[in-house]
Amino acid sequence: KKITIAIDGFSSTGKSTIAKQLAKELGYVYVDSGAMYRAMTLFAMNENFVSENHLNKNSLLENLDKATLHFQFNEALGFAEMYLNDVNVEKEIRTLEVSNLVSKIAAISEVRKKLVAIQKEIGKNKGVVMDGRDIGTVVFKDAELKLFMTSSAETRGKRRYDELIEKGDAVTYEAVLENVVERDRIDTTRDDSPLVKADDAIEIDNSDLTKEEQFEKVLKLANE
Ligand code: C5P
Repeated sequence: KKITIAIDGFSSTGKSTIAKQLAKELGYVYVDSGAMYRAMTLFAMNENFVSENHLNKNSLLENLDKATLHFQFNEALGFAEMYLNDVNVEKEIRTLEVSNLVSKIAAISEVRKKLVAIQKEIGKNKGVVMDGRDIGTVVFKDAELKLFMTSSAETRGKRRYDELIEKGDAVTYEAVLENVVERDRIDTTRDDSPLVKADDAIEIDNSDLTKEEQFEKVLKLANE
């Protein structure tokens, strides 16, 4: 049985769907590490440290301690929601505006250091499924199971677009696709912990798998 499960991959490859399913089935904690980077980005936006055309890195770093993050389990939803300074920001962090700035913030070493420390602490001594970009390579290098999710660009763009439309966001498919591609570009080329498949991660391409097929495959790996 695998106690720590790390799920990494490019944007919108269905990491959170499979992570949530697995955590529920195994009775583990699910942690969405991307939500933490999104919450830090929202903090930076609210304080005017970042916008489309500017990033005031020094001010952000000086005020890093003013952002406190925690997860709180929501019984009705069945997963933990993200709180920034004790305010539930779960909805606000999922907008395209945050998505367009998050990779800039996630490229800052001091931000990563802060969040990785919290992530390691959450995963201590309990069953956990965490998804992100550096979980198998940095946060839980010793994870018993590491997955690296991939899927075709079309599948990914459509997946994210459908999600946003369902929530009532006025977005175009082109804008969503552009965001996914641009985030991957920044995430794979940043200096600190770039997105890369861990040597011992198992690659799962879900372009042609139904959710059920994918779950069956991954659950088998988790139970081995
Ligand atoms: O997972 P999600 O798409 O919500 O992540 C948003 C962004 O947060 C990513 O594009 C990436 O820039 C950053 N991230 C990261 N490391 C993680 C999780 C997310 O750099 N472990």
